[in-house]
Amino acid sequence: MGNGSIPGIGVRQLTKTYGRFRALHRVDLDVAPGSFLALFGPNGAGKSTLLGIIAGLVRPSRGQVFLDGEEITKDRDESLGQRIGVLSYQTYLYDELTVLENLRFYGKLYGIDNHRERIEELLDTVGMASRSGSPVRTLSRGMRQRVALARALLHDPDILLLDEPYSGLDQDALAILKTILAERNKTILLVTHDLARGLESADRVAILNRGRLVFESGTRDLSQVEFERIYRDHAS
Ligand code: ADP
Repeated sequence: MGNGSIPGIGVRQLTKTYGRFRALHRVDLDVAPGSFLALFGPNGAGKSTLLGIIAGLVRPSRGQVFLDGEEITKDRDESLGQRIGVLSYQTYLYDELTVLENLRFYGKLYGIDNHRERIEELLDTVGMASRSGSPVRTLSRGMRQRVALARALLHDPDILLLDEPYSGLDQDALAILKTILAERNKTILLVTHDLARGLESADRVAILNRGRLVFESGTRDLSQVEFERIYRDHAS
């Protein structure tokens, strides 16, 4: 698939209120097709809410989200879920099922052809092939995260939404994730507290604070030291 067919993400004047509390306030944000944006911000800034709205898991109060130029906030086409892969602290795995059973379940859910081969390939990629028969409840947090990564990639989504994907991963798994993200055949929106990793992998960075987008920049000429200073200035 060439970059031309990968959808971009457009967020316009997005507001989310919980009662009188404003979790997001008129956020405008673009992730260009095939590009990688890392979003930072302190706890409670609204990052997960923003990701949840784009993933279709949270309803916005006002504003719009576009995928591929098409507004998805009003009438959400079920097939959109097929194009999005989500990885967050919530693994969406069933504890009592084995690794293989979990992935087969999602393979069927997504209607993937030849899902056996795809599952084998992904378990290899994330280094979990030898544990395919283990119930998920017997795995460590990091192993579960590896399986969750395989689950998020199973249907080869062209949009990846990642919420703190690094948590619990060991050095090997971090290297695997970095390689996958470097392939650049997807549009990626990453939320993390890890300034160095986010800056290193992304094309653009943005900072959300108290529901507002307060900084956005390309990463090309942005050093880690400079970005740390900017983050301190914008995230307090
Ligand atoms: P972040 O991911 O940046 O830590 P969140 O998007 O999780 O921030 O939360 C933003 C704010 O919205 C927080 O103050 C949080 O308490 C509030 N919030 C999130 N979800 C809900 C909810 N379902 N009900 C009420 N308040 C919520």
